[in-house]
Amino acid sequence: MIVDATRVAACVVGLGAEVRVLGVDDPLVGPLVVHVETTNEPVCPGDCWTRPVAKDRQRVELVDLAVFGRPARLCWHKRRWACPNRGCHMVTWTEQNTRIAPARTSMTTRAGRWVTYQVGACARPVSDLATELGRSWHTINDAVIAYGDALLRADVERIGAVWALGLDETLFVRTGTYRSRSWVTSVVDVAEGRLLDLVEGRTAAAAGAWLAGRPQAWRDQIGYATLDLSGPYRAAFTKHLPDATQVADPFHVIRVATQALDEVRRRVQQETLGHRGRKGDPLYRIRRPLTMASERLDDDALTRLKGHLAAGDPHGEVRNAWHAREVVRFIYTDTHPDPAGFVAERADDLQDESCPPEINRVGRTIGKRRREIAAWHDARVTNGPTEAINGLNKRVKRAAFGMRVFKHYRIRALLYAGGVNWDLLATITPR
Ligand SMILES: [Zn+2]
Repeated sequence: MIVDATRVAACVVGLGAEVRVLGVDDPLVGPLVVHVETTNEPVCPGDCWTRPVAKDRQRVELVDLAVFGRPARLCWHKRRWACPNRGCHMVTWTEQNTRIAPARTSMTTRAGRWVTYQVGACARPVSDLATELGRSWHTINDAVIAYGDALLRADVERIGAVWALGLDETLFVRTGTYRSRSWVTSVVDVAEGRLLDLVEGRTAAAAGAWLAGRPQAWRDQIGYATLDLSGPYRAAFTKHLPDATQVADPFHVIRVATQALDEVRRRVQQETLGHRGRKGDPLYRIRRPLTMASERLDDDALTRLKGHLAAGDPHGEVRNAWHAREVVRFIYTDTHPDPAGFVAERADDLQDESCPPEINRVGRTIGKRRREIAAWHDARVTNGPTEAINGLNKRVKRAAFGMRVFKHYRIRALLYAGGVNWDLLATITPR
């Protein structure tokens, strides 16, 4: 047990042997202030190896980790030095020590790393940490972005080898008077369900530029490229991953059919009752069960669904569209000896004139994309994990209420879902 008071203080403050604790201010209100100085003997950094003389001191107050549940500040009495060598270009300078804090920052290195882990890995809101450390939202956020950016740059092995790559669009934020929407593209290792990067925009050019920035050998390893049915990502894949098999993502294929089903329901509602769906309307009451997979409905729900269809769907169009959506799902629920042939037949079924026009359109899309859709049976990879990652992104967005800067969003999302090597955090300081 340490009993010497000076050593007790140094031990609790924990910045190592070359930092001496000068004293503590314990105000009635506000953070505890710990005063420290360094004790090492420097040589002139101007390459003249002269021992400098002490000139004066400059106090810098830094946000530090909370002490025993109380916000704390580290007041660093920085020494200023002068070189006595008249021929030397270093006249005076202030000491720097990145173990305490990087130059021109307002937070200690350890506090900066800690908030980065709390926000990045645990998705804690910046505002929580601002309260805990007794400092503004912006101070904490600036530190997370600075350390997070440095960590992502240092983690050069993060992306690694990928054999199945997916591109997916994600709504980033609605801004301005008209709440215009900004989109980002998620680049995902769909085999591992890991977010590789976020790219601003959702164009072929944006995604293509990211792919073009990877080494050729890395791109050559990619065997499968997953995408949605309508997106512009096909062009990016064709240009930059010409040898990868393109796979239509099941999630998006089924969603196209589900959306068509919903369009049919709304059209029939309007045609039969002359108004948009209201609380008591039979088709309005089944809007949710219709979007669910049929096996997830129990017997009662199924009976109710059929009853409401009988009441509100005189020509059986909604029922027909519902059946069509289940047919599309069936592409993925079983193995087929000839997947491409099976998909082509289903596309023909959906284009039959007995189907509503919305479903005919789905049939044409599936017919056109039958190779990519059938390719799933070889690849067995989906953007499903991407959707999970999008869920994480939403969590990060919720935790970061008001986050509108793309760069900040990208760093926070990658810290959370990008498979970062957190062991490196102890070694990095922002530039
Ligand atoms: Zn010098």
